Amino acid sequence: AKADGRNTARFFNKHLKEEESLRLMLARDLEQAISGDQLRLVFQPIADAGSLRIVGYEALLRWKHPTLGDIAPDLFIPVAESTGIITSVGSWVISRALAAASSWPPHMVVAINLSPLQFRSGDLADEIIEAARRWNVAPCRLELEVTESATLLGFQRDNVLVALESLKNHGAKAVMDDFGTGHSSLSNLKDFAFDKIKIDRSFVASMLTHAPSVSIVKAIIGLGKSLGLTILAEGVETEEQLADLRAWGCNQVQGYLIGKPAETIIGSSLAMPVSSN
Ligand code: C2E
Ligand code: CA
Ligand code: CA
Ligand code: CA
Repeated sequence: AKADGRNTARFFNKHLKEEESLRLMLARDLEQAISGDQLRLVFQPIADAGSLRIVGYEALLRWKHPTLGDIAPDLFIPVAESTGIITSVGSWVISRALAAASSWPPHMVVAINLSPLQFRSGDLADEIIEAARRWNVAPCRLELEVTESATLLGFQRDNVLVALESLKNHGAKAVMDDFGTGHSSLSNLKDFAFDKIKIDRSFVASMLTHAPSVSIVKAIIGLGKSLGLTILAEGVETEEQLADLRAWGCNQVQGYLIGKPAETIIGSSLAMPVSSN
């Protein structure tokens, strides 16, 4: 048992070291990725649940590393956060997403994911509104997605509150992402004036096979409705899921059934920024 323990310890040590050196490498390479054309955005449609009409697109970040190939955002976003480089990555995302949206039909919304650390400087709201102005995208077309863990981070909490309030004053919408996976979903709902909640993909995925998930999804829809929020279900992959979600009154859906994240959408990509004076 003693030897086993030592082997296990050695195994984990080796594993941790490899993971740590991978993280260090990614952190270093991410700096070049921004300037070197390795980042791009893909856009996943958001549809009205009833009509399946596309109401807009969510911007999702992609990184093609020169030697490692495609790296998932779930892997590199935390690295970007821990090194602080998320601020520049996030700014890149904001400006590229608005540039893209400027060529879409003007009723289409653009959803942008924000990391809690982007709120640290205190001028995130101004940056977003300024980018929207530069690209001639009305702020009411903006949806800012914040995950629950983001709103939880103690010292950022006030910054997030203030920034979302300011963005909402300009007509933008605040969205709680991955709803149900955080530790204080309900108090976050109470304290932040969210316009919309996105039911996490994990609940939608287990809906068909797991009765408690059905109850949870129904309850989230009911709760959201009574608060006057828009309810979106993520990760909708089957007609069955769609039918249930519609029957329960879910407003919007997103998922492979409706459309996978893709490089280009409708419209041209030749948009020009509005001159900034
Ligand atoms: P998220 O914001 O919850 O985005 C939804 C994720 O689910 C995306 O993964 C999307 O490709 C995937 N997805 C969408 N529909 C389906 C489906 O029907 N089935 C399945 N299995 N998956 C589906 P992705 O693009 O790998 O992004 C992962 C996470 O990385 C995002 O989760 C978000 O938290 C983060 N992320 C992505 N782009 C950005 C960004 O620009 N900034 C920040 N801060 N985070 C980002
Ligand atoms: Ca999101
Ligand atoms: Ca989500
Ligand atoms: Ca997620």
